[in-house]
Amino acid sequence: SPSALNVYLDCRLKFYLQYIAGIKEKEEVSEEIDAGVFGNLAHYSLENLYSGFIQRKKRTQIEEGDFVELRKNWIFPAVEKAIRDFYHLEDEAETKLNGQLAIARDVIQGYVDQVLAYDASTAPFRLISLEKEKKYQTTLQIKTLNGARRVALRGIIDRVDELNGVIRLIDYKSGGDQKTFPDLDALFDRSLEKRNKAAMQTLFYGLIYQGTHPENTAPLKPAIFNLKEVFNDNFDPYLYQKEGRKTGIEVLDYKDYDPDFQTKLKELLEELYNPEIPFDQTEVLKKCEYCPYKEICGR
Ligand code: SF4
Repeated sequence: SPSALNVYLDCRLKFYLQYIAGIKEKEEVSEEIDAGVFGNLAHYSLENLYSGFIQRKKRTQIEEGDFVELRKNWIFPAVEKAIRDFYHLEDEAETKLNGQLAIARDVIQGYVDQVLAYDASTAPFRLISLEKEKKYQTTLQIKTLNGARRVALRGIIDRVDELNGVIRLIDYKSGGDQKTFPDLDALFDRSLEKRNKAAMQTLFYGLIYQGTHPENTAPLKPAIFNLKEVFNDNFDPYLYQKEGRKTGIEVLDYKDYDPDFQTKLKELLEELYNPEIPFDQTEVLKKCEYCPYKEICGR
C-alpha cells in the first residue's frame, strides 16, 4: 500500500517494526478527538453522504442543483452516522452524542458543507467509486536475488470521479499536506525531511487505477482535498510539479509520469526485497519526532 511504502521510505526500521514484526502502535484510550480521528470522521461523513446520494437517486451523475438538497438535508445524518459507526453507538435517537462528540459533529458538518460548496462549483461530475467499496490493485515485476517476483500493489482511494472527461483520484486529507513536489526523484528521496508523501500516494493511485482498468484512456488526475484549505477562496486541490518559487506545472495526467514512476517504484521494491540491505534507522532525526516506536528503537 502507499502508506506502507511511505513508511519504508521514511525509515526502514519503522517499516520492519510495523509491517514485518507486526508490532501495533500503543492504543491510547482517549476521550479526546485528535486530528487523526477527526480526519477519519470527516472521510466517513463524505463517504456516507455520497453513497447515500447514489442509493436514493439511483444515479452516479451529480448536477449542481443536487447540492441544494444535499447541503440542506443530508450533511447532518451523514456526519451523525459516521460518528455512531466509528464509536459503535446505537442508532436509536435516544442515545444522544455527548458534549465533545456533539461539538465534533458540528465542526465536521462545517467542513463537509465547504467540500460540498466546492464540489457544487465544479459540478456536474460522475462518481466512480467511494473509499471502502472498491480496492484498486495491480502487480509489478521486480528482480530479487532469488529471481523475478511479482509484487501486488493495492490501495483504497477515497473518491474517484469523472469531471469533464478527466478521472480524478481524490484523497481527503486533514493535515497540512503540500501539493507541490520538485520532481519524481524527490518523492523517493528518503534523505529529504519534507518528502511529499501525499504526492507519492496520489501518483501511486494513478498506477493502481490504470492497472485495474488497463483499457482506460482518460487522463488520471491526482487531487488532494485538504480539509484545512477548503475554506480558502482560491482552493485548488491539484498537484503541481514545482521547484521553489518558480511557476509550477499542473499534474494533468498520471500517465505523463509513467513509466518513470514505475521504474522508481520497482527500484524501491527491489531494495525492500534485498536481504543485503538492513532495516536500519533513518538518518533524518526529524522523522523520529512522532514515531510510535521511539522507545523500542532507542531514539
Ligand atoms: S524512532 Fe526514528 S529511527 Fe526509530 S523506528 Fe522510529 S523513525 Fe525509525
